[in-house]
Amino acid sequence: MQFSNLPQSPQSQSLMFKILVIEDEALVRANILEILDSSGDFDALGAENGLIGVRLAREHRPDLIVCDIMMPELDGYGVLDALRADPATAAIPFIFLTAKADQGDLRFGMNLGADDYLTKPFRRSELLLAISTRLEKQTALANRYSIKLKQAEERLNYLLHYDSLTNLPNLQLLRNRLGELIAQASRHQQSLSVLSLDLDRFNRLNQTFGYQVGDQLLKAVADRLGLCVALGDTVARLRADQFAIVLAPGQHKPDAAETCTIVLNAFCQPFVVSGCEVFVTASIGISVYPHDGGDADTLLQNADLALSQARQLGGNQYQFYTPQMNGVVSRMRMRSASLRQALQRCEFQVYYQPQVNLQSGEIVGAEALVRWLHPEWGFVSPAEFIPLAEQTDLILLIDQWMLQTACTQIAAWNRAGLPPVRIAVNLSGRQFQQPNFSETVLHILLGAGADSQYLELELTERIFIQTVQENVEILKSLKSHNIQISLDDFGTGYSSFKYLKSFPFDTIKIDMCFVRNIDRDSKNAAITRAIIQMAHSLNLKVIAEGVETEAELAVLRQYGCDAMQGYLFSRPVPAAEFERMLREGKCLPV
Ligand code: C2E
Ligand code: CA
Ligand code: CA
Repeated sequence: MQFSNLPQSPQSQSLMFKILVIEDEALVRANILEILDSSGDFDALGAENGLIGVRLAREHRPDLIVCDIMMPELDGYGVLDALRADPATAAIPFIFLTAKADQGDLRFGMNLGADDYLTKPFRRSELLLAISTRLEKQTALANRYSIKLKQAEERLNYLLHYDSLTNLPNLQLLRNRLGELIAQASRHQQSLSVLSLDLDRFNRLNQTFGYQVGDQLLKAVADRLGLCVALGDTVARLRADQFAIVLAPGQHKPDAAETCTIVLNAFCQPFVVSGCEVFVTASIGISVYPHDGGDADTLLQNADLALSQARQLGGNQYQFYTPQMNGVVSRMRMRSASLRQALQRCEFQVYYQPQVNLQSGEIVGAEALVRWLHPEWGFVSPAEFIPLAEQTDLILLIDQWMLQTACTQIAAWNRAGLPPVRIAVNLSGRQFQQPNFSETVLHILLGAGADSQYLELELTERIFIQTVQENVEILKSLKSHNIQISLDDFGTGYSSFKYLKSFPFDTIKIDMCFVRNIDRDSKNAAITRAIIQMAHSLNLKVIAEGVETEAELAVLRQYGCDAMQGYLFSRPVPAAEFERMLREGKCLPV
């Protein structure tokens, strides 16, 4: 019998299907292996008992398993049970071999989830037919599954990167594109401009004519802006009535000032909305790379500052950014200088925010968050000083100090006999890219006497854009020591599903901007739901951040989210207070 038109092996990605034969009778086993080998389509592997069979299945992930029922120690039912309980082997097709055609036994096996059975003795053709039929079904299933996954991916991609009212790229996609354009401009020593634009007195218009008219006007504005720019330029809608335009570098193109003139002239014509003519004007702020900033966020921020200047000067005009517009710069300089001394002066503290399992309601972990208590300024938010620290090597010292403090705390809580929970520590990209990063982590764990299974590292997607293979190796090495890895702020960065599939993460953290108002905000609900579905189909756990209300919690539960963190259960608290929660067994009502 020929099986040359069999589909490609989905597990091994090779042309040969890997078949595991678990059979204690040596003669029968040898006979089956010989049949499979001689057919030329299979790479066959034998196991002489159930225990070895389970081990080989986990190690080799075969495409199909043929297994005898009656075996000493672990029988066929036991093997099937063990494999179905492990997500890594649960889906492998399974064919039972039985000496006696005992219908009761077989029914039991099929109920356990076997896919087919063969009664011994069987003919060569019967064996090959049973195997090929099963493999074809499995491949059809895998194809259907990957099509569905692809569709879900595309939908989520759209929701995360486009504005649904105007179909323009949103802030996130604009940031990504701007980042790429900056890299390109830097290589070719070119400049590029960022325009931030908003409509003058849009709110008054909204109040007078209503939101529906407001929405239609925004759509019309989006269309008209599209006509004002050249090929390769990007128009995006950032929020409400604020748009941005990135002018890609290129010869023979209008420059920033010329483009602004084109746009402002285009606004001289009325917009026709619901049969009425509406006149609006716009204000524009401009920042130019590399002069006004070296990265996407700085350029957008500075274009915004220039925009507020244009607005203050009466609107219907454009302004270039100048450093004088930046009153916050001096404050940042002051913060940077004090930040250097903060570590020596022991001004940092660690707060712990509990993470709760949504099924059991129990605390399963905590995220360690740094706090800076300055003698004069009081608490300074990490959202303010971490970005400053990231511009220098200071971030390495802060992250290392956090890791050390958290590990010491893990060891102390374990010694004190508290219920074991996992502590998650945030790491910056700089830290992750340090040579010998995984050795450093292990060294800190060892020094603190902490058990590695209680440490989790939170990394953001930004880290994974570059040097992909190297990063996979670092993560694998951490994971081989039982350290858990979570992907932080999912959805706010590149959100490429490529990373999800190729990096060994354990958990995805859904950023709080998607959790906010999911009970009322249908877009956020769709995004959150799609992320949870996607993560689960890739065997990843999902934790929702920033849950503030019962209504948000209820929707997360309904979507099957695994865990949550947020003010609803607890704010980040000092170590002693988190310890008290653990002792008292504080729970989320289920
Ligand atoms: P993140 O990793 O996304 O941390 C979660 C932030 O959300 C924390 O802000 C937390 O206090 C806040 N949060 C938690 N629940 C709620 C809620 O229900 N509602 C609201 N509105 N907020 C909630 P925090 O502590 O200000 O930290 C801000 C960011 O600073 C963190 O965001 C993280 O990116 C960074 N960060 C904090 N600690 C460290 C650290 O030790 N190392 C590094 N590299 N970054 C850190
Ligand atoms: Ca985090
Ligand atoms: Ca986060």
